[in-house]
Amino acid sequence: MEHKGLISNTAPCGLHCGKCFAYKYGVIKEKSIELKEALGNFAPFAERFTTLLNEPAFNNYPQFEAFLAFLSTSSCSGCRNQKCQIYEECKVRDCSASMGVDFCFQCSKFPCEETGFDENLKKRWIKANNRISDIGIEAYYKEKCKEPRY
Ligand code: SF4
Ligand code: SF4
Repeated sequence: MEHKGLISNTAPCGLHCGKCFAYKYGVIKEKSIELKEALGNFAPFAERFTTLLNEPAFNNYPQFEAFLAFLSTSSCSGCRNQKCQIYEECKVRDCSASMGVDFCFQCSKFPCEETGFDENLKKRWIKANNRISDIGIEAYYKEKCKEPRY
């Protein structure tokens, strides 16, 4: 089955890879790189501002910088192209391919007990697939692009 455009950014479970922190083409990585570049060599200034502005928040800059560097190097190609880097127990990706469906709601066994998901993810999976079924992938994708994933 060929996957193009909006489907390529949406996993068979309904999660939006485009908003995932681990996605290498995602908005979180993109904005992190922009912020990292905008901050430049901010570390020594953060140290100075701690005393100059008497602002303890600047003490947290090294941890913030390290996390920003982490987000800037996200490397996942997305669920349609590789195994999920976060939910290692996920069975939906391989299963949906073997069932020949783009999304689980298209499968006769939905909602099944074969996802490998925990209760929290299972609820999201059912809700997402019902929503795609109700409004179609195009409208669903637009909806997901407007809201944060987390
Ligand atoms: S496959 Fe998993 S880790 Fe990769 S972008 Fe999608 S949700 Fe994130
Ligand atoms: S069996 Fe379950 S996990 Fe597999 S495609 Fe069908 S609904 Fe999705």
